[in-house]
Amino acid sequence: MTKLTILAGEVLFVGAGPGDPELITLKGLRALQQADLVVYAGSLVNPALLEECRQDCEIHDSAPLNLDQVLKLLFAGAKDGQRVVRLHTGDPALYGAIQEQMEALDAADIPYRLIPGVTATFAAAASLKQELTLPGVSQTLVLTRLAGRTAVPDSEALGNIARIGGTVCLYLSVGMMDKLVAELLAGGVFTPQTPVAVVYRASWPDEKMVEGTLADIAATVAEAGITRQALILVGEVLKARQQGVPEKSKLYDPGFEHGYRSKDG
Ligand code: SAH
Repeated sequence: MTKLTILAGEVLFVGAGPGDPELITLKGLRALQQADLVVYAGSLVNPALLEECRQDCEIHDSAPLNLDQVLKLLFAGAKDGQRVVRLHTGDPALYGAIQEQMEALDAADIPYRLIPGVTATFAAAASLKQELTLPGVSQTLVLTRLAGRTAVPDSEALGNIARIGGTVCLYLSVGMMDKLVAELLAGGVFTPQTPVAVVYRASWPDEKMVEGTLADIAATVAEAGITRQALILVGEVLKARQQGVPEKSKLYDPGFEHGYRSKDG
């Protein structure tokens, strides 16, 4: 196995995963263990991961910093020949604000790489013990959000997205449950009976899960006191745990031949 070696003066954007420190990738962990400088997104990255850093590693929380201040730290480290890790929650490519950081590194000729991470959607699915794609139910996953302080392009307004149906996974939106429900219903595919699951801090020790339908989930979430750091899953697949799968997968069907297996019998 070729193991990761961070080069002097290189920046690694690393996905920390959803919270459980064991859900970082092996490569991500190796990056943390080698780093001279770590700048982590303190709002959602589990600080337990920082115990993996070397004793003499310089560590900064980016939560109170603006983009320029973060870049200053990354630049100074890289120019000094340090091995730099920029640790983001979940996967860095999703709502991670990394493109602008990479653009600035490009402009300064600083080399960088990305190491992916487990995004909140998959941590939530694992906690629920739920497959997100089921034959005959949904084969499409939509990862999206409601507009907050960051706008969402009109064509991607949740009411439009909801016309597709499928399994919809919503980030950054649990504080706006009434609007979320109204827009999902406006798509014309989901109904008040469509199941919804909300997972607060998936994979953390204080994780909380609530479930319901589009008709009652807003009230249930309010009762549970969940106002942030939650992932919302919407779609018919969520019925399978109670009602069973309507169609078994072709992949393990005895009559289905594929590259790795011939038909049984
Ligand atoms: N890059 C991250 C997402 C950052 S946006 C990722 O890939 O997961 C922050 C939002 O992600 C939160 O508002 C919440 O909606 C979701 N989130 C992050 N970690 C979570 C967790 N452990 N459980 C539930 N939702 C989480």
